Amino acid sequence: MTGAARLADVVVIGAGQAGLAAGYHLRRAGVDFVILDAQQAPGGAWQHAWPSLRLFSPAQYSSLPGRMMPIPADGGYPDAAHVTTYLTDYEQRYRLPVVRPAAVRAVRDVGERLAVDSGAGTWHARVVVSATGTWWRPYVPHYPGIGDFRGEQLHAAGYRGPEPFRGRRVLIVGGGNSAAQILAELSQVARTTWATLRPPRLLPDEIDGRALFDLATRRHQAALAGQNTGSVGDLGDIVAVPSVREARDRGALKAEPMFSRITPDGVAWADGSTEAYDTIVWCTGFRPALAHLAPLRLRGPGGVIPTDGTRALAEPRLHLLGYGDWTGPASATLIGAGRTARQLTAEIIAQLQAQHDL
Ligand code: FAD
Repeated sequence: MTGAARLADVVVIGAGQAGLAAGYHLRRAGVDFVILDAQQAPGGAWQHAWPSLRLFSPAQYSSLPGRMMPIPADGGYPDAAHVTTYLTDYEQRYRLPVVRPAAVRAVRDVGERLAVDSGAGTWHARVVVSATGTWWRPYVPHYPGIGDFRGEQLHAAGYRGPEPFRGRRVLIVGGGNSAAQILAELSQVARTTWATLRPPRLLPDEIDGRALFDLATRRHQAALAGQNTGSVGDLGDIVAVPSVREARDRGALKAEPMFSRITPDGVAWADGSTEAYDTIVWCTGFRPALAHLAPLRLRGPGGVIPTDGTRALAEPRLHLLGYGDWTGPASATLIGAGRTARQLTAEIIAQLQAQHDL
């Protein structure tokens, strides 16, 4: 990397939905900013998701600020390619200043500004927004014997479709939407077992992401007011998209409690019995991609960076957007990212004004 550092009032890291939503509001507010993205093409994580993945809410409820997501041709829940096309169009329509590929290696404190070192050079910013998502850090829990398994292990992030599993014995682990959707299609071609930590919660047909977003928001507001809203649904609960409904009606959604250990050929269940599998598919979630922030030494216990809203408590020039409820209610969803980005921009403008006034 050569050349002098460039200046920007705000550097956004990541051009997935969260980074683009931030870009939309920053542009409207006339802020001087740039978005750095590690990918070769627009679309964030969606361009890497398995083709049959379906959103858990309809297009009208999966939109970023300013532009509605078009309704898919079949009228149903959008798939991953539909979201990628939408984000590509969004980025172009609002002429968002995305530099790619520009993988950020480090964010450093260099006095008055934060330095952002990327594959496309270094920027010095007054404020940095980290919006790098979670897709890049698939999580697999540790189970005794996991290293001895002779079969194939795969995280949902690496799943592309059911064909390679035809006729095989497949164990699917995890109780959320990814597991249910992957199970729904694998159970048509393979001999599947579904293992979950808790009994999976399948939502009634009429409840999808729409209701869950409202619930997440109400719950957040109630938590701020010190109240308890009770629980009738959660963003982790399983939405009965058509493939899941069909699998449920076929009786393929029966879940087993977790196994006690992994054996070289499969797993051992709590009652001591064993079963052989060719493949284990881990649908066990993701962790925030925060390695580039390591030089700032902000991680608290449990690896999370303590925040007030989106702002890092120990480094107020850093905001975190889109990683989960700890960075704004439902901020890790399409609709929630937009809402949080609006608030974030108002805060950043106040911060920039305060810095200019000093
Ligand atoms: P990403 O889409 O991951 O974008 C982050 C961008 O930052 C990427 O382009 C990445 O390359 C880039 N980046 C990462 N690290 C760096 C770095 N160091 N330097 C520069 N760039 C970097 N949400 C919904 O609203 N509805 C759903 O139905 C839904 N279904 C989901 C299903 C699955 C299986 C998953 C995993 C998530 C789902 N989500 C859903 C949640 C959420 O919408 C997605 O995870 C979404 O991709 C998050 O967007 P993001 O912008 O935060 O992150």
